[in-house]
Amino acid sequence: MSEFLSERFAYLRPYVPGEQPKGKSYIKLNTNESPFPPSPKVIAALNAKEAEKLNLYSDPTAESLIAALAERFDKKKTEVFAGNGSDEVLAFIFNAFSDKKKGMAFPEIGYGFYPVFCDMLGIPYRAVPLNADFTIDISRFRGLEENIVIANPNAQTGLYLPVSDIETIVSENYKRLVIVDEAYCDFGGESAMSLMRKYENIIVVSTMSKSRQLAGARIGYAVASEAIVEDLNKMKYSFNPYNLNSLSIIAGTEALKDEDYFDLCRRTVIENREECKRVLRGMGFSVTDSLANFVFASYPGIDGKSLYSALKERGVLVRFLSDGKLNCGVRITIGSVSQMEALYLMIDEILKERNLR
Ligand SMILES: *Cc1c(COP(=O)(O)O)cnc(C)c1O
Repeated sequence: MSEFLSERFAYLRPYVPGEQPKGKSYIKLNTNESPFPPSPKVIAALNAKEAEKLNLYSDPTAESLIAALAERFDKKKTEVFAGNGSDEVLAFIFNAFSDKKKGMAFPEIGYGFYPVFCDMLGIPYRAVPLNADFTIDISRFRGLEENIVIANPNAQTGLYLPVSDIETIVSENYKRLVIVDEAYCDFGGESAMSLMRKYENIIVVSTMSKSRQLAGARIGYAVASEAIVEDLNKMKYSFNPYNLNSLSIIAGTEALKDEDYFDLCRRTVIENREECKRVLRGMGFSVTDSLANFVFASYPGIDGKSLYSALKERGVLVRFLSDGKLNCGVRITIGSVSQMEALYLMIDEILKERNLR
């Protein structure tokens, strides 16, 4: 730390992203990316002609992307906001609607960025306990003082809360905002966007990183009332009006034009996930009933860190989360069939080597 860092940030503990290894090539099942490349339409559109225009600023309104998102979700353009990854969208939301007096509440296990944003922005937060099986007890979210953010399906576990439960939380906190982070919703969940017809206090946030094969393009979005989107634009135009670069605007717009490819990829991930549950459970693992593009899996007799390290030695990267409730197992991103088959073989080897199987 330099002597110049503001004391506000002296104790800030930044988010630690999953490893993005260089050099040695791993089977990468650690950061919930898609195992598939972007749509061929996206790749074709990112051509030299577009690169030649990089001397110009990008469109601050991201018009083509906003229009495509609005059409996809049957919303007005004024009800859609886009940002540099949903991380940025979430940061704008936290900054716009919470402060020292109005904190944030979220399930104790969820997306690791929520407490980091709160710490950076000086927002007090409350981690609401989960049931022992990682499910959310919605009665703990009744009439809270704070705004609420819930990843649904939940980050780390993949467990999904039905829209009727989200509706209960939204209606019981009508003076508070409920932010539903649907990064993983395309893998089998139903979106809470439909609740916008009845409630003004909901923001649905999502991303093209997980289900649209565009993690590197950094495209996130939010759908909410016109008034809320206006507030978010106020944040953006006070910080970085060109928050989406021109190539990403093109990539996102084109990705939304290729629903067939999107469907093919997500259906494959869903199939591979269900097969993964079957295989690992068959071996004796506990596996969460995830509706996301990952599962959380643990095995009696080997802790998460050992399993993570043994897999890494063999060239497979999964995610180990040192959090007390999750250190019993690992989070495994669902990859292609061949990646998953390699994983199963290596897990079998590791367990046999340790006489656990
Ligand atoms: C991956 C993820 C994000 C961030 O997505 P980006 O759009 O890549 O910034 C946000 N929330 C959850 C729950 C995620 O898993």
